[in-house]
Amino acid sequence: MKDNLAQINLEINEHREKSNISTQPNVIAVTKYVTIERAKEAYQAGIRHFGENRLEGFKEKKEALPKDAVLHFIGSLQSRKVKDVINDVDYFHALDRMSLAKEINKRAEHTISCFLQVNVSGESSKHGISLDEVNAFIEEIKQFENIKIVGLMTMAPYTDDNAYIQSLFRKLRTKRDEIKKLNLEYAPCEELSMGMSNDYPIAIEEGATFVRIGTKLVGE
Ligand SMILES: *Cc1c(COP(=O)(O)O)cnc(C)c1O
Repeated sequence: MKDNLAQINLEINEHREKSNISTQPNVIAVTKYVTIERAKEAYQAGIRHFGENRLEGFKEKKEALPKDAVLHFIGSLQSRKVKDVINDVDYFHALDRMSLAKEINKRAEHTISCFLQVNVSGESSKHGISLDEVNAFIEEIKQFENIKIVGLMTMAPYTDDNAYIQSLFRKLRTKRDEIKKLNLEYAPCEELSMGMSNDYPIAIEEGATFVRIGTKLVGE
C-alpha cells in the first residue's frame, strides 16, 4: 500500500511539473472492491480521503475508519436511498438530475457539498448531464438551500486514446472555470473530480483537484 501510494505521488508530481500545475490534488482511495481491513491499511499509509459507490460499503467504511477520514460518495444514488446516507457524506460526487437534488435538499440536515456529474463524452452508458446543460442546472439549484455545488465531476470512457481523454478533461476544466467566475455563493465550483486508475496522470495535467483511485492504490 505504502509503495503504491509513493508511486502514485511520484507520478502526480511528475505530471504537475510537466504541465506547470500548482494545485496539489487530493487522492481519494476508492475502497469499493476491498475489505475494511484494507481501507484501514490505506488510512495507516496516510490516506484521508475515501470513496465508495454503494450504500452498504459506504456505511461499513464510515463506521470502521477514524473520525478524521473524509468520506466521498462517488456512485449514482437512487432517490429513495438518499435519506439513509446523505447526512454521513462529506462529498457527494454524483449529482446528475434535478429530482435527486430535490430529495437531497429535503433530507439534508446541513449543507451538502456536491459535485455535479457531467457526461462530457456524451456516451449513453455514462451517468451525468451534458456540458450544455450545466449552466441551466446550476441556475435551478439556487432554490435548494441545503446544496452547495463545490465542483464538477466526470468519468472518462475506457480507451487508449489519451488525446481524446485529455480533450474531455479539458472541456470539464473550462466549464469549471466558467462557473467559478460567476462567483455564486451556492456554487463556488472550485473543484474538479476526475481521473481513475487508468487515466489519472492525464487528469492531473488538466488540473484535477480530486483523483479517485481504486485498483492501482488499494487493489481490486
Ligand atoms: C470504481 C470507481 C473509481 C475507481 O476505479 P479504478 O479504475 O479502480 O481506479 C473511480 N470513480 C468512480 C465513480 C468509480 O465508480
